[in-house]
Amino acid sequence: MLNTVISGERVVNYINGEWTVPTEEKYTSIVNPATGKSIGEILLSSKKEVDLAVEAAKKAQKKWALVPAPQRAEILYRVGLIMKDRKEELSRILTQEMGKVIEEARGEVQEGIDMAFYMAGEGRRLFGNTTPSELKDKVAMSIRVPVGIVGIITPWNFPIAIATWKSFPAIVGGNAVIWKPATETPLMARELVKIFEEAGLPKGVINLVCGSGSQVGNAMVEHPDIDVISFTGSNEVGRTIAETCGRMLKRVSLEMGGKNAVIVMDDADLTLAVEGILWSAFGTSGQRCTACSRVIVHEDVKEKLEEQLLVAMEKLTLGNGLDDSVKIGPVINGSALQKIHEYVGIGKNEGAKLLAGGSIVKDDRLGNGYYYEPTLFTDVTPDMRIAQEEIFGPVVSIIPVKSFEEAIEVNNGVTYGLSSSIFTRDVNRVFAAQRDLDTGIVYVNAGTTGAEIHLPFGGTKGTGNGHRDSGVQALDVFTEWKSIYVDY
Ligand code: GLU
Repeated sequence: MLNTVISGERVVNYINGEWTVPTEEKYTSIVNPATGKSIGEILLSSKKEVDLAVEAAKKAQKKWALVPAPQRAEILYRVGLIMKDRKEELSRILTQEMGKVIEEARGEVQEGIDMAFYMAGEGRRLFGNTTPSELKDKVAMSIRVPVGIVGIITPWNFPIAIATWKSFPAIVGGNAVIWKPATETPLMARELVKIFEEAGLPKGVINLVCGSGSQVGNAMVEHPDIDVISFTGSNEVGRTIAETCGRMLKRVSLEMGGKNAVIVMDDADLTLAVEGILWSAFGTSGQRCTACSRVIVHEDVKEKLEEQLLVAMEKLTLGNGLDDSVKIGPVINGSALQKIHEYVGIGKNEGAKLLAGGSIVKDDRLGNGYYYEPTLFTDVTPDMRIAQEEIFGPVVSIIPVKSFEEAIEVNNGVTYGLSSSIFTRDVNRVFAAQRDLDTGIVYVNAGTTGAEIHLPFGGTKGTGNGHRDSGVQALDVFTEWKSIYVDY
């Protein structure tokens, strides 16, 4: 068990059931963003380790696919029990490695636990179907079969939850996995692999290969024996992956961020709306794909909403997320801090009015951590860059509109399509909005974040390519249909 205060960790690969050091000993530091201090190092791999992992996975997958699905599911059930047992410890590691506040870390670990039990259930429900044949004395049926070797590439903002959305359905579906976690958060990856090991997953079914996107990620995408790539990350990287996979006829599932909005209509419960905006904009310091970065507000309630938001924002305490009273943690690293600050500069230049925040926090009590003030712009127009581009930080733009129709148009007028939300008391608007908002997820009278694992997660347009993480729909990424005709 790891100490609750982490230091001096060293993360290596896990290939064919062995913890192994890559041949070339290159490494990079793992930094706690709340303090700016190194808490360990991660050894960086290259194509060679990917090749080794694929070889191991291919051998293991043949046997794993023959294990009855309910038995594969039982391993996930055990994974869920172990995660539940270790929930507090895992949450504390997560906060120290990634920075999100402990309450949110607990929520994220819980999501992984839920996913384990949910997918364990799916192992007993890997339904196919039978269809009446056109012909006499013939049975026509279709069954799900594994795709084979799955490559998963996961981000640092949800280092354990997103890994469970991808690896659990892949494993229960009878595949073997090569996993490249973000280099910022390898500790969480190592913990999850240790849990798989303890739960009795046969060697080679999951393989962890740590390293950069340009080395390990590329080698995975280009490997002819990896059958599917499931990626969550930036739009830019996702498009490159899609191009390569397209060329190779390789299945690819992409989740590439959002520019999510909360719509506040003139009949909204403003107290509820403020609460929804606050947590979906500033929770995880705005570093969620689903984070609210636009508030589209009816002009009649704009001033009142701004007043209430500003009061609520004053209560947001910033600091090290291990402290239970802290509401907002740091952002992931120095370059994220700079990028967020650049966007604030862009917003000012574009003529948006800064209502709160707008600075990198300089406070000796916070050491060398990477903190950005929760930031609110108003009088933003839909065409401004701060209203169009994903900032991935605690920055929100208020965009006034005159009608429900205009609100929908502004919501849809971005290249992303992940999450959206509307606050209204009008049932007709609720139903029209869920029909017209062109995002993969729609919330009514709640913020844009907090998706649960039993519904498909993902979006349209620049967010994704139609495949979904989590929910029973995740199985469509990791299984293939086979049609069978039996004459008798
Ligand atoms: N599960 C998270 C939510 O709905 C989002 C995950 C992500 O940012 O990718 O808030």
